[in-house]
Amino acid sequence: MPAAPGWMRPERVRVLKDVSDDGRGDFVAYVMYASHRTHHNHALEYTLHKANQQKKPAIVIFPVIEKKPHPNLRRFRFMLENILKMRDALGKRNVKLVVRKNYDFLPLLKEASYVVVDKPYLNHQRKFIDAVVENSEAEVAMVEGDVVVPVEVVSQKAEPYARTIRPKIMKNLEKFLEDIPTIRLEISSLSLDIPSWDEESVEDYVKGLEVDLTVEPVDYFVGGEDEAFRRLSLFVGERLKIYAENRSDPGVEASSELSPYLRWGMISPVQMLREVFRVYRFDDVNVQSLVNELVVWRELARNAAVYNPGFGTFDGLPEWAKQTLEAHVGDRREYVYSLKELEKARTHDRYWNAAQTELVRTGKIHNYMRMYWCKKIIEWTEHPRTAFEYAVYLNDRYGLDGVDPNSYLGISWCFGAFDRPFFESKIYGKVRKMTEESLKRKPGINAYLRRFSE
Ligand SMILES: Cc1cc2nc3c(=O)[nH]c(=O)nc-3n(C[C@H](O)[C@H](O)[C@H](O)COP(=O)(O)OP(=O)(O)OC[C@H]3O[C@@H](n4cnc5c(N)ncnc54)[C@H](O)[C@@H]3O)c2cc1C
Repeated sequence: MPAAPGWMRPERVRVLKDVSDDGRGDFVAYVMYASHRTHHNHALEYTLHKANQQKKPAIVIFPVIEKKPHPNLRRFRFMLENILKMRDALGKRNVKLVVRKNYDFLPLLKEASYVVVDKPYLNHQRKFIDAVVENSEAEVAMVEGDVVVPVEVVSQKAEPYARTIRPKIMKNLEKFLEDIPTIRLEISSLSLDIPSWDEESVEDYVKGLEVDLTVEPVDYFVGGEDEAFRRLSLFVGERLKIYAENRSDPGVEASSELSPYLRWGMISPVQMLREVFRVYRFDDVNVQSLVNELVVWRELARNAAVYNPGFGTFDGLPEWAKQTLEAHVGDRREYVYSLKELEKARTHDRYWNAAQTELVRTGKIHNYMRMYWCKKIIEWTEHPRTAFEYAVYLNDRYGLDGVDPNSYLGISWCFGAFDRPFFESKIYGKVRKMTEESLKRKPGINAYLRRFSE
Protein backbone atom coordinates (compact mmCIF):
# COMPACT_ATOMS: atom_id res chain seq x y z
CA MET A 1 0.00 0.00 0.00
CA PRO A 2 1.58 3.38 -0.91
CA ALA A 3 1.59 6.14 1.68
CA ALA A 4 -1.83 7.72 1.25
CA PRO A 5 -2.28 11.37 2.13
CA GLY A 6 -3.79 11.89 5.59
CA TRP A 7 -7.21 12.84 4.20
CA MET A 8 -7.75 9.55 2.38
CA ARG A 9 -8.30 6.07 3.81
CA PRO A 10 -5.13 4.15 2.86
CA GLU A 11 -7.24 1.10 1.82
CA ARG A 12 -8.45 3.05 -1.20
CA VAL A 13 -5.03 3.02 -2.86
CA ARG A 14 -3.14 0.03 -4.19
CA VAL A 15 0.09 -0.11 -6.20
CA LEU A 16 -0.36 -2.09 -9.41
CA LYS A 17 3.18 -1.56 -10.65
CA ASP A 18 5.95 -0.95 -8.21
CA VAL A 19 8.83 1.03 -9.69
CA SER A 20 11.32 2.85 -7.52
CA ASP A 21 10.81 6.55 -8.06
CA ASP A 22 13.83 7.80 -9.95
CA GLY A 23 12.34 11.20 -10.73
CA ARG A 24 12.06 10.59 -14.48
CA GLY A 25 8.98 11.58 -16.42
CA ASP A 26 7.47 14.95 -17.18
CA PHE A 27 4.09 14.82 -15.46
CA VAL A 28 1.82 12.79 -13.26
CA ALA A 29 -1.01 11.26 -15.30
CA TYR A 30 -4.46 10.22 -14.16
CA VAL A 31 -6.22 7.94 -16.63
CA MET A 32 -9.83 8.85 -15.88
CA TYR A 33 -11.57 5.70 -16.99
CA ALA A 34 -14.44 5.31 -14.54
CA SER A 35 -14.80 8.33 -12.24
CA HIS A 36 -15.81 11.02 -14.74
CA ARG A 37 -15.88 13.88 -12.28
CA THR A 38 -13.91 16.76 -10.88
CA HIS A 39 -15.70 16.87 -7.51
CA HIS A 40 -15.07 14.41 -4.74
CA ASN A 41 -12.85 12.28 -6.90
CA HIS A 42 -10.31 10.45 -4.75
CA ALA A 43 -8.17 9.46 -7.74
CA LEU A 44 -8.01 13.02 -9.08
CA GLU A 45 -7.07 14.56 -5.74
CA TYR A 46 -4.53 11.81 -5.15
CA THR A 47 -3.01 12.62 -8.56
CA LEU A 48 -2.69 16.32 -7.72
CA HIS A 49 -1.25 15.51 -4.31
CA LYS A 50 1.32 13.23 -5.95
CA ALA A 51 2.22 15.87 -8.57
CA ASN A 52 2.81 18.51 -5.91
CA GLN A 53 4.92 16.04 -3.98
CA GLN A 54 7.00 15.28 -7.10
CA LYS A 55 7.03 18.98 -8.07
CA LYS A 56 5.59 18.15 -11.49
CA PRO A 57 2.47 19.15 -13.39
CA ALA A 58 -0.43 16.71 -13.63
CA ILE A 59 -2.68 15.85 -16.54
CA VAL A 60 -5.97 14.00 -16.77
CA ILE A 61 -6.21 11.58 -19.69
CA PHE A 62 -9.74 10.86 -20.90
CA PRO A 63 -9.84 7.84 -23.23
CA VAL A 64 -12.86 7.64 -25.54
CA ILE A 65 -13.05 3.94 -26.35
CA GLU A 66 -15.14 3.22 -29.43
CA LYS A 67 -15.20 -0.53 -28.87
CA LYS A 68 -16.91 -0.36 -25.46
CA PRO A 69 -19.87 -2.72 -25.03
CA HIS A 70 -22.85 -1.04 -26.74
CA PRO A 71 -21.07 1.91 -28.32
CA ASN A 72 -24.20 3.78 -29.32
CA LEU A 73 -25.11 7.40 -29.74
CA ARG A 74 -27.24 7.53 -26.61
CA ARG A 75 -24.56 6.27 -24.28
CA PHE A 76 -21.69 8.21 -25.94
CA ARG A 77 -23.64 11.42 -26.00
CA PHE A 78 -24.37 11.22 -22.30
CA MET A 79 -20.69 10.59 -21.59
CA LEU A 80 -19.45 13.29 -23.96
CA GLU A 81 -21.80 15.94 -22.58
CA ASN A 82 -19.65 15.78 -19.49
CA ILE A 83 -16.27 16.11 -21.24
CA LEU A 84 -16.79 19.74 -22.22
CA LYS A 85 -17.83 20.59 -18.68
CA MET A 86 -14.87 18.77 -17.19
CA ARG A 87 -12.42 20.47 -19.53
CA ASP A 88 -13.58 23.82 -18.13
CA ALA A 89 -13.60 22.71 -14.51
CA LEU A 90 -10.13 21.14 -14.73
CA GLY A 91 -8.80 24.14 -16.67
CA LYS A 92 -9.82 26.41 -13.78
CA ARG A 93 -7.68 24.20 -11.57
CA ASN A 94 -4.70 24.48 -13.98
CA VAL A 95 -5.09 20.86 -15.03
CA LYS A 96 -4.99 19.91 -18.70
CA LEU A 97 -7.58 17.43 -19.91
CA VAL A 98 -6.13 15.25 -22.65
CA VAL A 99 -8.85 13.50 -24.64
CA ARG A 100 -7.67 10.63 -26.83
CA LYS A 101 -9.52 8.08 -28.92
CA ASN A 102 -9.25 4.42 -28.01
CA TYR A 103 -5.75 3.41 -26.95
CA ASP A 104 -3.98 6.38 -28.59
CA PHE A 105 -3.03 7.64 -25.14
CA LEU A 106 -0.82 4.67 -24.28
CA PRO A 107 2.46 6.12 -25.68
CA LEU A 108 1.92 9.18 -23.46
CA LEU A 109 2.24 7.01 -20.38
CA LYS A 110 5.93 6.46 -21.15
CA GLU A 111 6.48 10.15 -20.39
CA ALA A 112 4.72 10.03 -17.04
CA SER A 113 6.51 10.06 -13.71
CA TYR A 114 3.55 8.47 -11.94
CA VAL A 115 0.27 7.00 -13.18
CA VAL A 116 -3.06 6.84 -11.38
CA VAL A 117 -6.05 4.72 -12.48
CA ASP A 118 -9.58 4.04 -11.25
CA LYS A 119 -10.54 0.64 -9.85
CA PRO A 120 -12.06 -1.61 -12.54
CA TYR A 121 -14.82 -4.12 -11.73
CA LEU A 122 -16.02 -5.72 -14.97
CA ASN A 123 -13.84 -7.91 -17.21
CA HIS A 124 -13.49 -5.44 -20.08
CA GLN A 125 -12.52 -2.73 -17.57
CA ARG A 126 -9.87 -4.97 -16.03
CA LYS A 127 -8.37 -5.57 -19.48
CA PHE A 128 -8.18 -1.82 -20.03
CA ILE A 129 -6.33 -1.28 -16.76
CA ASP A 130 -3.94 -4.16 -17.61
CA ALA A 131 -3.01 -2.30 -20.81
CA VAL A 132 -2.31 0.86 -18.81
CA VAL A 133 -0.07 -1.03 -16.40
CA GLU A 134 1.76 -2.79 -19.23
CA ASN A 135 2.47 0.47 -21.05
CA SER A 136 3.60 2.51 -18.07
CA GLU A 137 7.22 2.76 -17.07
CA ALA A 138 6.47 4.60 -13.86
CA GLU A 139 4.69 3.44 -10.74
CA VAL A 140 0.96 2.82 -11.25
CA ALA A 141 -1.46 3.31 -8.38
CA MET A 142 -5.12 2.31 -8.42
CA VAL A 143 -7.60 4.34 -6.40
CA GLU A 144 -11.03 3.00 -5.46
CA GLY A 145 -13.31 6.00 -5.13
CA ASP A 146 -16.59 4.83 -6.66
CA VAL A 147 -17.70 2.84 -3.63
CA VAL A 148 -18.09 3.77 -0.01
CA VAL A 149 -16.14 0.80 1.38
CA PRO A 150 -13.47 -0.72 -0.92
CA VAL A 151 -14.45 -4.19 -2.10
CA GLU A 152 -11.47 -6.04 -0.61
CA VAL A 153 -11.95 -4.34 2.77
CA VAL A 154 -15.52 -5.62 2.94
CA SER A 155 -14.85 -9.24 2.07
CA GLN A 156 -12.38 -11.60 0.44
CA LYS A 157 -15.00 -13.85 -1.15
CA ALA A 158 -18.18 -13.75 -3.20
CA GLU A 159 -21.02 -12.88 -0.82
CA PRO A 160 -24.19 -14.85 -1.58
CA TYR A 161 -26.75 -12.44 -0.08
CA ALA A 162 -27.29 -8.85 0.93
CA ARG A 163 -27.75 -10.09 4.48
CA THR A 164 -24.24 -11.61 4.55
CA ILE A 165 -22.48 -8.54 3.18
CA ARG A 166 -24.55 -5.96 5.09
CA PRO A 167 -22.83 -6.30 8.52
CA LYS A 168 -19.41 -6.33 6.86
CA ILE A 169 -20.19 -3.07 5.10
CA MET A 170 -21.98 -1.41 7.99
CA LYS A 171 -19.13 -1.89 10.45
CA ASN A 172 -16.87 0.06 8.07
CA LEU A 173 -19.33 2.61 6.72
CA GLU A 174 -18.64 5.60 8.91
CA LYS A 175 -14.89 5.60 8.58
CA PHE A 176 -15.12 5.52 4.77
CA LEU A 177 -17.30 8.60 4.55
CA GLU A 178 -14.20 10.75 4.66
CA ASP A 179 -14.27 14.24 3.18
CA ILE A 180 -11.55 15.01 0.70
CA PRO A 181 -9.92 18.34 -0.07
CA THR A 182 -9.84 20.16 -3.41
CA ILE A 183 -6.10 20.27 -3.99
CA ARG A 184 -4.41 23.14 -5.78
CA LEU A 185 -2.01 21.98 -8.49
CA GLU A 186 1.21 23.92 -7.89
CA ILE A 187 2.68 23.54 -11.39
CA SER A 188 0.12 24.09 -14.11
CA SER A 189 -0.09 21.63 -17.00
CA LEU A 190 -2.18 23.90 -19.25
CA SER A 191 0.72 24.96 -21.43
CA LEU A 192 2.20 21.49 -21.89
CA ASP A 193 2.50 20.61 -25.54
CA ILE A 194 0.38 17.46 -25.44
CA PRO A 195 -2.12 17.10 -28.29
CA SER A 196 -5.67 16.51 -27.18
CA TRP A 197 -8.80 15.77 -29.18
CA ASP A 198 -10.68 18.97 -28.34
CA GLU A 199 -13.99 19.88 -29.92
CA GLU A 200 -16.36 22.74 -29.23
CA SER A 201 -19.55 20.69 -29.09
CA VAL A 202 -20.83 17.23 -28.37
CA GLU A 203 -22.00 17.01 -31.99
CA ASP A 204 -18.42 17.54 -33.19
CA TYR A 205 -17.17 14.77 -30.93
CA VAL A 206 -19.90 12.42 -32.13
CA LYS A 207 -19.05 13.12 -35.78
CA GLY A 208 -15.54 11.86 -35.12
CA LEU A 209 -16.65 8.53 -33.71
CA GLU A 210 -17.83 5.24 -35.11
CA VAL A 211 -20.91 4.65 -33.03
CA ASP A 212 -24.25 2.94 -33.55
CA LEU A 213 -26.58 5.80 -34.44
CA THR A 214 -29.75 3.73 -34.18
CA VAL A 215 -30.10 4.15 -30.41
CA GLU A 216 -31.14 7.75 -30.14
CA PRO A 217 -30.14 10.13 -27.34
CA VAL A 218 -32.75 10.91 -24.67
CA ASP A 219 -33.80 14.31 -23.32
CA TYR A 220 -34.64 12.91 -19.91
CA PHE A 221 -31.02 12.64 -18.74
CA VAL A 222 -28.30 15.15 -19.61
CA GLY A 223 -24.72 14.15 -18.84
CA GLY A 224 -22.61 16.16 -16.41
CA GLU A 225 -21.72 16.67 -12.78
CA ASP A 226 -23.91 19.77 -12.66
CA GLU A 227 -26.94 17.66 -13.65
CA ALA A 228 -26.03 15.04 -11.06
CA PHE A 229 -25.90 17.70 -8.33
CA ARG A 230 -29.22 19.15 -9.47
CA ARG A 231 -30.83 15.72 -9.13
CA LEU A 232 -29.12 15.13 -5.81
CA SER A 233 -30.49 18.38 -4.33
CA LEU A 234 -33.96 17.54 -5.62
CA PHE A 235 -33.65 14.11 -4.03
CA VAL A 236 -32.37 15.29 -0.65
CA GLY A 237 -34.72 18.28 -0.55
CA GLU A 238 -37.93 16.69 -1.77
CA ARG A 239 -37.91 13.00 -2.51
CA LEU A 240 -35.92 11.38 0.28
CA LYS A 241 -38.59 12.05 2.88
CA ILE A 242 -40.91 9.60 1.09
CA TYR A 243 -38.23 7.21 -0.17
CA ALA A 244 -38.76 4.25 2.18
CA GLU A 245 -42.50 4.16 1.67
CA ASN A 246 -42.71 4.99 -2.01
CA ARG A 247 -39.54 3.89 -3.78
CA SER A 248 -41.30 0.75 -5.00
CA ASP A 249 -44.29 2.58 -6.45
CA PRO A 250 -43.63 3.24 -10.15
CA GLY A 251 -46.10 6.10 -10.20
CA VAL A 252 -44.40 8.13 -7.46
CA GLU A 253 -41.19 10.11 -7.94
CA ALA A 254 -39.44 9.04 -4.76
CA SER A 255 -36.04 7.79 -5.89
CA SER A 256 -32.97 9.78 -6.88
CA GLU A 257 -32.76 8.77 -10.57
CA LEU A 258 -29.02 9.09 -10.18
CA SER A 259 -28.12 5.66 -11.53
CA PRO A 260 -26.80 6.94 -14.90
CA TYR A 261 -24.59 9.47 -13.07
CA LEU A 262 -23.30 6.86 -10.62
CA ARG A 263 -22.72 4.50 -13.54
CA TRP A 264 -20.45 6.97 -15.33
CA GLY A 265 -18.81 8.18 -12.15
CA MET A 266 -20.31 11.67 -12.55
CA ILE A 267 -21.15 11.64 -8.86
CA SER A 268 -19.54 9.94 -5.89
CA PRO A 269 -21.61 7.73 -3.59
CA VAL A 270 -19.59 9.08 -0.66
CA GLN A 271 -20.49 12.62 -1.57
CA MET A 272 -24.14 11.63 -2.00
CA LEU A 273 -24.25 10.27 1.53
CA ARG A 274 -22.37 13.24 2.94
CA GLU A 275 -24.99 15.54 1.42
CA VAL A 276 -27.77 13.39 2.88
CA PHE A 277 -26.20 13.53 6.35
CA ARG A 278 -26.13 17.33 6.25
CA VAL A 279 -29.92 17.18 6.47
CA TYR A 280 -30.85 13.77 7.83
CA ARG A 281 -29.87 11.60 10.78
CA PHE A 282 -28.43 8.17 10.11
CA ASP A 283 -31.27 6.37 11.92
CA ASP A 284 -33.97 8.00 9.78
CA VAL A 285 -35.99 5.26 8.10
CA ASN A 286 -35.52 6.83 4.65
CA VAL A 287 -31.78 7.08 5.09
CA GLN A 288 -31.60 3.45 6.22
CA SER A 289 -33.46 2.44 3.09
CA LEU A 290 -31.18 4.53 0.86
CA VAL A 291 -28.04 3.10 2.48
CA ASN A 292 -29.43 -0.36 1.84
CA GLU A 293 -29.72 0.33 -1.90
CA LEU A 294 -26.86 2.73 -2.55
CA VAL A 295 -24.30 0.96 -0.41
CA VAL A 296 -25.37 -2.60 0.47
CA TRP A 297 -26.88 -3.69 -2.87
CA ARG A 298 -24.65 -1.53 -5.04
CA GLU A 299 -21.51 -2.79 -3.31
CA LEU A 300 -22.78 -6.39 -3.33
CA ALA A 301 -22.75 -5.97 -7.11
CA ARG A 302 -19.11 -4.89 -7.04
CA ASN A 303 -18.26 -7.80 -4.75
CA ALA A 304 -19.85 -10.20 -7.27
CA ALA A 305 -18.01 -8.57 -10.19
CA VAL A 306 -14.69 -9.05 -8.43
CA TYR A 307 -15.15 -12.53 -6.96
CA ASN A 308 -17.59 -14.39 -9.25
CA PRO A 309 -15.86 -15.09 -12.60
CA GLY A 310 -19.17 -15.93 -14.32
CA PHE A 311 -20.95 -12.81 -13.07
CA GLY A 312 -23.10 -11.25 -15.78
CA THR A 313 -23.84 -14.57 -17.51
CA PHE A 314 -26.26 -17.43 -16.97
CA ASP A 315 -23.31 -19.60 -15.94
CA GLY A 316 -22.54 -17.26 -13.05
CA LEU A 317 -25.88 -18.03 -11.34
CA PRO A 318 -26.00 -20.27 -8.26
CA GLU A 319 -26.26 -23.99 -9.09
CA TRP A 320 -29.73 -24.42 -7.55
CA ALA A 321 -31.11 -21.59 -9.72
CA LYS A 322 -29.63 -22.93 -12.97
CA GLN A 323 -30.83 -26.45 -12.19
CA THR A 324 -34.38 -25.48 -11.31
CA LEU A 325 -34.76 -23.19 -14.34
CA GLU A 326 -33.33 -25.83 -16.68
CA ALA A 327 -35.57 -28.52 -15.18
CA HIS A 328 -38.54 -26.43 -16.38
CA VAL A 329 -37.36 -25.77 -19.92
CA GLY A 330 -39.96 -28.23 -21.20
CA ASP A 331 -42.88 -26.36 -19.54
CA ARG A 332 -45.37 -24.94 -22.02
CA ARG A 333 -44.94 -21.19 -22.56
CA GLU A 334 -48.17 -19.40 -23.34
CA TYR A 335 -46.27 -16.63 -25.11
CA VAL A 336 -42.85 -16.71 -26.71
CA TYR A 337 -41.42 -13.45 -28.05
CA SER A 338 -38.44 -12.76 -30.25
CA LEU A 339 -35.81 -10.24 -29.24
CA LYS A 340 -37.17 -7.85 -31.88
CA GLU A 341 -40.71 -8.09 -30.51
CA LEU A 342 -39.45 -7.41 -27.01
CA GLU A 343 -37.29 -4.54 -28.19
CA LYS A 344 -40.28 -2.92 -29.91
CA ALA A 345 -42.49 -3.47 -26.81
CA ARG A 346 -44.86 -5.65 -28.83
CA THR A 347 -46.12 -8.09 -26.20
CA HIS A 348 -49.65 -8.79 -24.97
CA ASP A 349 -48.77 -7.30 -21.56
CA ARG A 350 -49.37 -3.54 -21.19
CA TYR A 351 -47.30 -3.33 -17.99
CA TRP A 352 -44.31 -4.92 -19.64
CA ASN A 353 -44.67 -2.78 -22.75
CA ALA A 354 -44.76 0.33 -20.56
CA ALA A 355 -41.51 -0.69 -18.83
CA GLN A 356 -39.79 -1.35 -22.15
CA THR A 357 -41.11 1.98 -23.45
CA GLU A 358 -39.70 3.72 -20.38
CA LEU A 359 -36.31 2.12 -21.07
CA VAL A 360 -36.25 3.15 -24.72
CA ARG A 361 -37.65 6.62 -24.07
CA THR A 362 -35.74 7.66 -20.94
CA GLY A 363 -32.69 5.40 -20.68
CA LYS A 364 -33.72 3.59 -17.51
CA ILE A 365 -36.60 1.67 -15.91
CA HIS A 366 -38.11 2.24 -12.49
CA ASN A 367 -36.64 -0.32 -10.06
CA TYR A 368 -39.90 -2.15 -9.33
CA MET A 369 -40.84 -2.35 -13.01
CA ARG A 370 -37.34 -3.55 -13.82
CA MET A 371 -37.89 -6.65 -11.72
CA TYR A 372 -41.21 -7.39 -13.43
CA TRP A 373 -39.70 -6.63 -16.84
CA CYS A 374 -36.86 -9.10 -16.38
CA LYS A 375 -38.90 -11.85 -14.68
CA LYS A 376 -41.35 -11.85 -17.59
CA ILE A 377 -38.56 -12.30 -20.13
CA ILE A 378 -37.88 -15.66 -18.42
CA GLU A 379 -41.52 -16.63 -18.94
CA TRP A 380 -41.61 -15.64 -22.60
CA THR A 381 -38.45 -17.25 -23.98
CA GLU A 382 -37.73 -20.89 -24.82
CA HIS A 383 -34.71 -21.16 -22.53
CA PRO A 384 -33.59 -19.22 -19.43
CA ARG A 385 -30.13 -18.86 -20.94
CA THR A 386 -31.67 -16.99 -23.91
CA ALA A 387 -33.77 -14.95 -21.48
CA PHE A 388 -30.63 -13.93 -19.61
CA GLU A 389 -28.95 -12.84 -22.84
CA TYR A 390 -32.01 -10.87 -23.97
CA ALA A 391 -32.29 -9.10 -20.62
CA VAL A 392 -28.61 -8.12 -20.64
CA TYR A 393 -28.80 -6.98 -24.26
CA LEU A 394 -31.86 -4.76 -23.79
CA ASN A 395 -30.77 -3.39 -20.42
CA ASP A 396 -27.28 -2.52 -21.64
CA ARG A 397 -28.21 -1.27 -25.09
CA TYR A 398 -30.87 1.21 -23.99
CA GLY A 399 -30.02 1.89 -20.35
CA LEU A 400 -27.80 4.87 -19.65
CA ASP A 401 -27.01 3.09 -16.40
CA GLY A 402 -26.36 -0.23 -18.19
CA VAL A 403 -23.06 -2.11 -18.46
CA ASP A 404 -22.58 -1.74 -14.75
CA PRO A 405 -22.17 -4.36 -12.00
CA ASN A 406 -25.67 -3.27 -10.88
CA SER A 407 -27.06 -4.33 -14.26
CA TYR A 408 -25.87 -7.90 -13.79
CA LEU A 409 -26.78 -8.01 -10.11
CA GLY A 410 -30.35 -6.94 -10.91
CA ILE A 411 -30.69 -9.39 -13.79
CA SER A 412 -29.07 -12.26 -11.85
CA TRP A 413 -31.42 -11.56 -8.92
CA CYS A 414 -34.39 -12.08 -11.23
CA PHE A 415 -32.90 -15.50 -12.07
CA GLY A 416 -32.57 -16.49 -8.40
CA ALA A 417 -29.12 -15.20 -7.42
CA PHE A 418 -28.88 -13.36 -4.06
CA ASP A 419 -32.40 -14.65 -3.33
CA ARG A 420 -33.70 -17.83 -1.69
CA PRO A 421 -35.57 -20.70 -3.36
CA PHE A 422 -39.39 -20.32 -3.33
CA PHE A 423 -42.28 -22.72 -3.91
CA GLU A 424 -42.05 -24.60 -7.19
CA SER A 425 -44.00 -23.01 -10.07
CA LYS A 426 -44.26 -23.47 -13.83
CA ILE A 427 -41.30 -22.23 -15.91
CA TYR A 428 -39.59 -20.54 -12.92
CA GLY A 429 -39.16 -23.67 -10.85
CA LYS A 430 -38.00 -22.54 -7.41
CA VAL A 431 -37.05 -19.06 -8.63
CA ARG A 432 -39.37 -16.36 -7.26
CA LYS A 433 -41.95 -15.30 -9.83
CA MET A 434 -43.73 -11.97 -10.17
CA THR A 435 -47.29 -11.48 -11.32
CA GLU A 436 -49.45 -8.64 -12.53
CA GLU A 437 -51.31 -8.79 -9.20
CA SER A 438 -48.33 -7.28 -7.36
CA LEU A 439 -48.32 -4.40 -9.85
CA LYS A 440 -52.05 -3.78 -9.54
CA ARG A 441 -51.60 -3.19 -5.81
CA LYS A 442 -49.33 -0.18 -6.47
CA PRO A 443 -51.37 3.02 -6.14
CA GLY A 444 -49.38 4.75 -8.88
CA ILE A 445 -49.47 2.00 -11.48
CA ASN A 446 -52.13 3.64 -13.65
CA ALA A 447 -50.22 6.90 -13.69
CA TYR A 448 -47.17 4.92 -14.79
CA LEU A 449 -49.14 3.21 -17.56
CA ARG A 450 -50.46 6.54 -18.81
CA ARG A 451 -46.98 7.98 -18.84
CA PHE A 452 -45.40 5.16 -20.79
CA SER A 453 -48.15 3.94 -23.08
CA GLU A 454 -47.27 4.33 -26.70
C1 LIG B 1 -33.45 -6.47 -13.98
C2 LIG B 1 -32.74 -5.32 -13.32
C3 LIG B 1 -31.79 -4.59 -14.02
C4 LIG B 1 -31.11 -3.54 -13.41
N1 LIG B 1 -30.19 -2.84 -14.15
C5 LIG B 1 -29.52 -1.82 -13.57
C6 LIG B 1 -28.55 -1.09 -14.29
O1 LIG B 1 -28.31 -1.36 -15.48
N2 LIG B 1 -27.88 -0.08 -13.66
C7 LIG B 1 -28.15 0.24 -12.36
O2 LIG B 1 -27.52 1.16 -11.83
N3 LIG B 1 -29.06 -0.43 -11.65
C8 LIG B 1 -29.76 -1.44 -12.18
N4 LIG B 1 -30.70 -2.12 -11.47
C9 LIG B 1 -30.89 -1.79 -10.05
C10 LIG B 1 -31.95 -0.68 -9.78
O3 LIG B 1 -33.12 -0.99 -10.47
C11 LIG B 1 -31.47 0.70 -10.17
O4 LIG B 1 -30.22 0.95 -9.60
C12 LIG B 1 -32.43 1.79 -9.68
O5 LIG B 1 -33.69 1.59 -10.26
C13 LIG B 1 -31.90 3.13 -10.11
O6 LIG B 1 -32.83 4.13 -9.81
P1 LIG B 1 -32.44 5.33 -8.87
O7 LIG B 1 -31.14 5.92 -9.29
O8 LIG B 1 -33.61 6.23 -8.79
O9 LIG B 1 -32.19 4.55 -7.50
P2 LIG B 1 -32.28 5.02 -6.00
O10 LIG B 1 -33.36 4.21 -5.36
O11 LIG B 1 -32.35 6.46 -5.86
O12 LIG B 1 -30.92 4.47 -5.39
C14 LIG B 1 -29.70 5.22 -5.45
C15 LIG B 1 -28.64 4.37 -6.12
O13 LIG B 1 -28.43 3.15 -5.42
C16 LIG B 1 -28.13 2.11 -6.34
N5 LIG B 1 -29.19 1.11 -6.30
C17 LIG B 1 -30.52 1.30 -6.06
N6 LIG B 1 -31.18 0.13 -6.09
C18 LIG B 1 -30.25 -0.82 -6.34
C19 LIG B 1 -30.31 -2.23 -6.48
N7 LIG B 1 -31.46 -2.90 -6.34
N8 LIG B 1 -29.18 -2.90 -6.76
C20 LIG B 1 -28.00 -2.25 -6.88
N9 LIG B 1 -27.89 -0.91 -6.74
C21 LIG B 1 -28.99 -0.21 -6.48
C22 LIG B 1 -28.12 2.73 -7.73
O14 LIG B 1 -26.80 3.09 -8.06
C23 LIG B 1 -29.01 3.94 -7.55
O15 LIG B 1 -28.79 4.96 -8.46
C24 LIG B 1 -31.39 -3.20 -12.06
C25 LIG B 1 -32.35 -3.93 -11.36
C26 LIG B 1 -33.02 -4.98 -11.96
C27 LIG B 1 -34.04 -5.75 -11.19
